[in-house]
Amino acid sequence: MDLAVALYIVPTPIGNLADITQRALDVLNQVSLVACEDTRHSGKLLSHFGIETRKIAIHDHNERDRAKDIINLLADSQSVALISDAGTPLISDPGYHLVSQVRQAGYKVIPLPGACAAITALSASGLPSDRFSFEGFLPAKEKGRLDKLAALREDPRTLIFYESPHRIVHSLKSIVTALGADREIVMAREVTKTFETFLSGEAHDVLAQVEVDANQQKGEIVLMCHGFRTQETEQLPQVAIDTLTILSAELPLKKAAALAAQIHGLKKNALYKHGLNIGL
Ligand code: SAM
Repeated sequence: MDLAVALYIVPTPIGNLADITQRALDVLNQVSLVACEDTRHSGKLLSHFGIETRKIAIHDHNERDRAKDIINLLADSQSVALISDAGTPLISDPGYHLVSQVRQAGYKVIPLPGACAAITALSASGLPSDRFSFEGFLPAKEKGRLDKLAALREDPRTLIFYESPHRIVHSLKSIVTALGADREIVMAREVTKTFETFLSGEAHDVLAQVEVDANQQKGEIVLMCHGFRTQETEQLPQVAIDTLTILSAELPLKKAAALAAQIHGLKKNALYKHGLNIGL
């Protein structure tokens, strides 16, 4: 493989080493430098695959300075790969400042597809995946957590959070308080690893299961919550929502809702509200 001069964004496995891609291995072998979140951690992964490329550490505290060094390498026609401890760099991981500075300096940034805990967990959750909002980690303090969840309470999209095992019970309690005990949620733990588990049900029920089982409070966790459902939107048939979506591309939402209501024999207000909820 002939490598174009660029900063390569390279996802690494989130647990199962077999999830590395052939292209990731080729790029990591061929670049001049691998920028890692933690060189010791990534050193183990790279040596597992027999990769001996030089490494440097890049983290939140030195990212801007490191960006200058990396831009100098690109100016010298040397390519660099960015990896994080696991999964896709920049997704709740360092790299944003680096990528924006490299782009601003006029160099190519080439992304490779690969593992990401949020997307992997969502794909098997059984929750709606047509629209979702990735929210990263919830705040550590209860007040911040409840405020953040309150702001998301009426969001109709599936909500995705990363969570650490020692905070999972607190976060589930906050979800019960702020989103409601009956909110449908899915907790995906240790995805792609030996003890992979998906717990699903109403928030109070998942909380009860996690509270009594210490094993559920271990490992890495993605928490997903069904989006807000109103009675009206729950009753809307998909075909009416499709009509509304098509009409609203050409007409103001009010008019589109009135026509869709007429076509499908529904209440125009319900369609109008649903249109607002889904951002039409
Ligand atoms: N950049 C990574 C990605 O693409 O998924 C995420 C990095 S973030 C610092 C680490 C968090 O991702 C963990 O605390 C956990 O919430 C989630 N995570 C990572 N690996 C996971 C796994 N195998 N199963 C479940 N969640 C995982």
